[in-house]
Order: sequence, then structure tokens, then C-alpha cells
Amino acid sequence: MKEIHIIGGGMAGTEAAWQVMQQGIPVVLHEMRPVRKTDVHQTDGLAEMVCSNSFRSDDYENNAVGLLHEEMRRCNSLIMAAAQENSVPAGSALAVDRLGLSKTVQERLEANPLFTMVREEVAQIPPEDWDNVIIATGPLTSDALAQSILEMTGENELAFFDAIAPIIYKDSINFDKAWYQSRYDKGDTADYINLPLNKDQYETLIDDLIDQEKYDYKDWEKNTPYFDGCMPIEVMAERGRETLRFGPMKPVGLTNPHSDEAPYAVLQLRQDNKLGTLYNMVGFQTKMKYGAQTETFRKIPGLEEAKFARLGGLHRNTFINSPNLLDSNLRLKMQPRLRFAGQISGVEGYVESAAMGLMAGRFAAAERLGTEISPPPMTTAFGALIHYITGGQIPGVGDRKHFQPMNVNFGIMPVLEGKKMKRKDRKPAKSQRALEALAHWLDETRLKSD
Ligand code: FAD
Repeated sequence: MKEIHIIGGGMAGTEAAWQVMQQGIPVVLHEMRPVRKTDVHQTDGLAEMVCSNSFRSDDYENNAVGLLHEEMRRCNSLIMAAAQENSVPAGSALAVDRLGLSKTVQERLEANPLFTMVREEVAQIPPEDWDNVIIATGPLTSDALAQSILEMTGENELAFFDAIAPIIYKDSINFDKAWYQSRYDKGDTADYINLPLNKDQYETLIDDLIDQEKYDYKDWEKNTPYFDGCMPIEVMAERGRETLRFGPMKPVGLTNPHSDEAPYAVLQLRQDNKLGTLYNMVGFQTKMKYGAQTETFRKIPGLEEAKFARLGGLHRNTFINSPNLLDSNLRLKMQPRLRFAGQISGVEGYVESAAMGLMAGRFAAAERLGTEISPPPMTTAFGALIHYITGGQIPGVGDRKHFQPMNVNFGIMPVLEGKKMKRKDRKPAKSQRALEALAHWLDETRLKSD
């Protein structure tokens, strides 16, 4: 049978290779290290964890990344099996001996006669006779390949940085203080949630933005020109105490239904997922430390009890504008022989990247076998992530200006229908629903290995 080519031997590429080979299909994996190094990887091993050694929570009932672990296990994931074998004690988290994980993954792949590895940089979009390709080159995709992708997709379709503003669960916002309204009532009312600040509250926020601890910029991050469109909120505050009041926090075109007093500044939250369960803080991309972010932002009226689906950040990260470019099978619409997986497809994190590799591997294998499988339903962690990166058609998700990578979280899954439930029971109920839906999907799309 003709091979499938996979570019990049990281979290996503190795999992994809494993999934493809489980179907009896040969794989050629192209990995550029050690021929060409990245600024971050330390070894030439496959599936290298570049920073923390944690796969985060393993509690699948109460934590969305734990649920994703469980879904991956049920789909015969190589990365999850290797993580389990190389786990180190970390309470309810799954922490891993990183060299052990890399070694196990590489040995398992190399032991399979269907596996070929080529140590080379793929420096441009591969030739037409590579008819089934998965591009999984990660956040540090080599410059030459990134340039080639950019030329193919158009220059607005590939980003070199993520500039993530914190994302908040809507049901943790206090609507005795917040209200829905688009500025000057343009667009749909529910697109924005507004939070009013008086002068004292605004001054406190500015002090905190300037004084709170920040993460350092790495040397190689300093040289990249991201300040154009997405300046960190604290840098704006440092440029002048009024800058935010005349920028993202301007208090004009908005009417507070809870008070006659005109707000001094307004924080706007923009709808972030199609379900309307998540809202992001407009303009609040930041390098503040995580603890400092929650402390500072919970002082804003209406956010006292805020729960964050993810906190803000600014990182070097190569990723495509998946909502425009990919179909729900992770195929590039303009060249369906090419699939994208891993961090370059717009997810964030080791586990999410491996999960997208797992899906891309299955989709590509099914295609090689002459069928097509649809993605798992949105009620699963897999399906919710795929839908988030490929499906959003709302302001803030469907257009290039605002698409930013995402971690898995319960907010991107549909709300539970039916009877009212205590808050503590909602996550376990969503997890149970997810695992049942996954079992059903596996039955319907059964591949050889299941
Ligand atoms: P990678 O694992 O990076 O794999 C991509 C592979 O493609 C690499 O081996 C690379 O050498 C290869 N490659 C690149 N270009 C080419 C080419 N042209 N030809 C052939 N091969 C190529 N996530 C977390 O969950 N926790 C963290 O603590 C964390 N810290 C991070 C710190 C930094 C500095 C960075 C940059 C990322 C961090 N991430 C973290 C994100 C993490 O890198 C990714 O989530 C995950 O490794 C992405 O998996 P991937 O398979 O998409 O990419």
C-alpha cells in the first residue's frame, strides 16, 4: 500500500504515525532534528517535551484535559501509553520522565516494519506525488517551510505569535454588574459583555498592570515583530495611564443599565466560542504571571468570582488560521492531500497536539483505505477541539484577526440539556456524556486497531 508522509516527529507527528500504522499502512516520518535544530528542543529524540514535564490533570471526571487523556487511551494512543509507562509521582496530575517518554515513543515506532524515518528538513510544500500528507511541524516550524505555507495560503493565514487574552467562563460573571451590548449597538447584542470601572477601580487596575510580576521574554522572542497588532496590555498601561481609556477600554457607545453613573472605563468581553459559554477580555493579551492575572482581573467589578478557561499569554508560535483553511477532517480546503495537526493547527499544549495528531492519523488512514470518517461529536473533548479550531463562524472565532490557539476545556463543549444540576455535578456529567459519545463514534467508525 502507498505510504502516508508525516512531517515533524513531535507530539502530533509521532501519534499520527502510530495511528496510521495500526491500519497496516506504511509511514514515512520526516524529522529535521538533528540536521536542523529548533531554538528550544534539546535532543534529537522524537516526541520531546520542550518545557514542563506535565500532561496536567489526569482526573477525567472533573478536568477536561483528564477527559482528553481518557479519550486518547480509548483510541489506542501511543503518547498516552508511553506517558503512563514513564509517569513520575505528581498527585492527580500526569507528570512524565521526558527522556523516558521520548525513548519509548521512538522505540515503539522504530520496531514497526511499516515505519521509515528520514532525518531531513522538508523546506517547502511537498510534491504532488505525496498524495496523503500530515504537516505536524509545531510551534517552531522551520522558517523555510513556514514561508512556503504562507505563500500557498496567503499572508494573513499564518501567524508567528500567539497573543492570547484571558478567556472567562460566562457563567462565572456577575450580571448584577455586567451587561450585554455591542458598542453603539452595532452587531448582535450578545457579542459583547461589558464591565464598568469607576476612576478608583481604573487607577487600581493600571497600578496592578504596571507593578505585577511578568514572565521574561526569551532572547529569540525579543527579535520577533509582534508588537504591531497585539501589544501586551501592561505595555499599553506603561505608555500612559490614559492609554487604555482611549483604547480598548474606552467608555463610549455603551449604556450601563444598572447605574445612572457614567463609567470611567469599560472592559469588554467578546464571545469566544459558538456556544456562547466563553468570553475573552478584549485587548488583554499579557505577559503577567498567571497568579498575578487572576488577582488583578478579579478586582474588576463583575469578575470577582471569575473562572478562567485560559489565562493570557504571548509566545512565539507558528499556527495557521484553521477556521478559514481547514475542513473538519483537518484537510487544507485548497489542497485536500495536505492535513495539519498539532500546535500548528491551532491547539495549544502537548496533550491537545498529540490528540490532533491522533485524529489526523485516523482520518488520513481511513482515506487511504478508501473511506472517510467524520470527526467525533462535539460533546467529546476530541470533537470540541476540532470544532473550535475548524468550525467557528462567529465574530472572534471565524476571522483571522481574532483566531487564537486553544487548550481543551469544558467551555468548548455544549451545555448539558435537561434538568438543572448542581455546579459540582456538571463536569462529571459532561465527561460521562463525552465517553458515551466516543464509544458510539468508535463503533460507527471502527478501524482495525479498535
Ligand atoms: P512539536 O512537538 O514541536 O514537534 C514538531 C516537530 O517538527 C519538531 O520535532 C521539529 O523539529 C519538527 N520540524 C519543524 N519544522 C520541520 C520541517 N520543516 N521539516 C521536518 N521537521 C520539522 N506545551 C505544554 O503542554 N506544556 C508546556 O510546558 C509547554 N511549553 C512550551 C514551551 C515553549 C518554549 C514552546 C515553544 C512550546 C511549549 N509548549 C508547551 C507547547 C508545545 O511545544 C506543544 O504543545 C507541543 O510540543 C506541540 O506538539 P507538535 O507536535 O505540534 O510540535
